Amino acid sequence: MTHQATTAVIGKEGLAALITVLAERGRTVIGPTVRDGAIVLAELRSGEELPYGSGVELEAGHYRVRPRQDGAAFAHSAGPQSWKTYLHPQRERQWSADRGNDGAWTVTGNDTPAPSYAFLGVRPCDLRAIAVQDRVLAAGPHTDSRYRARRARVFLVVVECTEPGATCFCTSMGTGPAVDGAYDLALTEVIDERGHRFWARAGSDEGVSVLAELPQQPADAGCATAARELVAAAAGRMGRTMPEVDLQVLMRETLHADRWNDVAARCLTCGNCTMACPTCFCTTAEDVTDLTGDHAERWRRWESCFDLEFTHLPGGPVRASGHSRYRQWATHKLGTWYDQFGSSGCVGCGRCIVWCPVGIDITEEAHALNAEREADGVPGKATP
Ligand code: SF4
Ligand code: SF4
Repeated sequence: MTHQATTAVIGKEGLAALITVLAERGRTVIGPTVRDGAIVLAELRSGEELPYGSGVELEAGHYRVRPRQDGAAFAHSAGPQSWKTYLHPQRERQWSADRGNDGAWTVTGNDTPAPSYAFLGVRPCDLRAIAVQDRVLAAGPHTDSRYRARRARVFLVVVECTEPGATCFCTSMGTGPAVDGAYDLALTEVIDERGHRFWARAGSDEGVSVLAELPQQPADAGCATAARELVAAAAGRMGRTMPEVDLQVLMRETLHADRWNDVAARCLTCGNCTMACPTCFCTTAEDVTDLTGDHAERWRRWESCFDLEFTHLPGGPVRASGHSRYRQWATHKLGTWYDQFGSSGCVGCGRCIVWCPVGIDITEEAHALNAEREADGVPGKATP
């Protein structure tokens, strides 16, 4: 680290300057903005595009943007997209092939340079989700080179959560609302009698040098204390909780619970939950050719374990029923993900609850499974 300040207090003009500085460094700045009745992630060109004065009203199967009197920029929880939209895009060309005049094929990989993103407004739960996808896509023996290239170049500006939504449960999953993980800059928004400001901390050399370019005040203990109190209060205001049991064990011990039939009767197997989830990573491949048959391409696109094709083998789909597909998704998220990747696959962002068209709530399902297990005489096991 350099000897420049690693903490400071910036105002709205400092936040606007942050976007300018990052853009001047050649980065595409992605952050929250209001568009089409939602707070979405999109390229930001100025601080005016941030969702100042907009909050969200969330419930199972319900999302509305609501005006806020305090003018906060980051008083909103998870929106319809997550950062995987940029790091692990929905659709990407893998290679193309062209037939020459001699009939021979030339195959060309997708070597377009990785974009240099700056993500502004990453929530602590979503920072953890990026870490989960890092383990899946960038660690281990078979890594995704294009994910790794994008991930290596990203500049992360985390914003701690001071306004949890009604569907949030990061406290239960140990993923928020305070930041815990590697970042370049962390901000906490404070609005009180002393004004509207952001407590800023740098977490990398580039974070230090970016922070040095912003109009700022020296970090004062009052702002830091106010920020910590706001985040601590947010931890106590989560809209949802998970049962306080070992969820991995719960999933293992309730594989044959009646509750799976109950949820299967409601689930449309639409796959919305998997598309919205910041950690779901599954993909499939599609091959296309032009009309001449001289040009072919292979594309990779997101796939959902709710799709019948997902497990299609010569004898038909392995998981033919909605019961088996919902159970596979939930038990993977909360249970077998530990076996595969050493952590939970759920970070408690609540997106799957909000964007489920019939309002299926993974926390409600976990509580119901736990209640059924206890009714069957298997006591809950406290989370260590
Ligand atoms: S399972 Fe639901 S709450 Fe958990 S990370 Fe995925 S979308 Fe968020
Ligand atoms: S749980 Fe909801 S969002 Fe997920 S597949 Fe079923 S109906 Fe669709």
